[in-house]
Amino acid sequence: MTDTLVFYSGPDPFDAWRDALTPYLGDSVRIENADAVTRADDVRFALVWKPPSGFFDPFANLDLVINLGAGVDQLVARDDLPDVPITRLSDPKMGQMMASFVLFSVLRHAREIPHFEAAQARKEWAYRHPRAASEITVAVLGLGQLGALAATEIARQGFNTHGWATKPQTLKDVTVHCGDEALGPLLNQADIVVCMLPLTPTTHERLDANSFAEMKPGAAFINVSRGEVVDESALVEALLSGHLSGATLDVFQHEPLAPDHPLWTIPGVLITPHLASVALPKSAAPQIAANIKAIQNGEALSNEVSRVRGY
Ligand code: NDP
Repeated sequence: MTDTLVFYSGPDPFDAWRDALTPYLGDSVRIENADAVTRADDVRFALVWKPPSGFFDPFANLDLVINLGAGVDQLVARDDLPDVPITRLSDPKMGQMMASFVLFSVLRHAREIPHFEAAQARKEWAYRHPRAASEITVAVLGLGQLGALAATEIARQGFNTHGWATKPQTLKDVTVHCGDEALGPLLNQADIVVCMLPLTPTTHERLDANSFAEMKPGAAFINVSRGEVVDESALVEALLSGHLSGATLDVFQHEPLAPDHPLWTIPGVLITPHLASVALPKSAAPQIAANIKAIQNGEALSNEVSRVRGY
């Protein structure tokens, strides 16, 4: 028997992941695409992104499910998930890609780029004196592996940076707030709110009409985590009423966003098709291989997901 890793992903190419993993796994693990598994009983590891229902059923000897991405909401919500450990990706390049997208989004609002784009369409020289970064308060909701890095990058640019999580942590130049009661006062003082919360039963539509009402008049909203963390109708309402000045949205309750969705045409809203960050084979391969070897050697895993918390 040769330990086998089965791969499944709609968007990610099998060859690139096999080639990236092979130098780290050598002959100790056979890497096979889901449609070409030679012996289902040999499969001990599954590297997957949104596999179809029943996918895991043939693999009676599975020991580890590796989520081919950072967000595990779809995986942990399944009712056919085998009772084995789950790990997620947390590769540095993915973090860097996310942090740069978030920084771009924060700067877009901080430097009032939507105002200048609208003025350009009218061929209008619409000068607005820039504000110093230190005068602009940014709140990052969710300080996980991606969120903490993004918050640190925002702070590095000199913004008055705050973060929100369930438990305290120390981040350079970031003021950390914890717990439900801290959210309202934080939303109240932020000029730009960045959502980096994972989708879990407790964060589902956590940002609702009340949250948007708590945000400062003229605040901007950025969502790069999951659409379902936000009550989308309340967001549309807050934008249409002018209470929020704009938004940068990478994720939506239903993707792709329907052509007749109101968000497409609200001034100041930028829509991107869920690409803030992606898993990169060369950068992620060492940690995937390390977890596979940890299972083979009976050692502790890294980046393990809690099914109870949902992240
Ligand atoms: P992590 O799972 O590492 O961390 C989650 C963070 O959210 C933690 O700081 C956690 O707090 C906090 N949190 C969770 N629940 C609550 C709550 N109820 N109240 C307050 N804080 C809470 O997430 P990452 O930073 O790695 O990633 C964030 C999300 O980004 C992913 O879940 C995924 O959905 C999304 N994503 C989007 C991509 C895109 O292209 N748009 C690409 C990759 C990921 P604590 O620290 O106290 O545990």
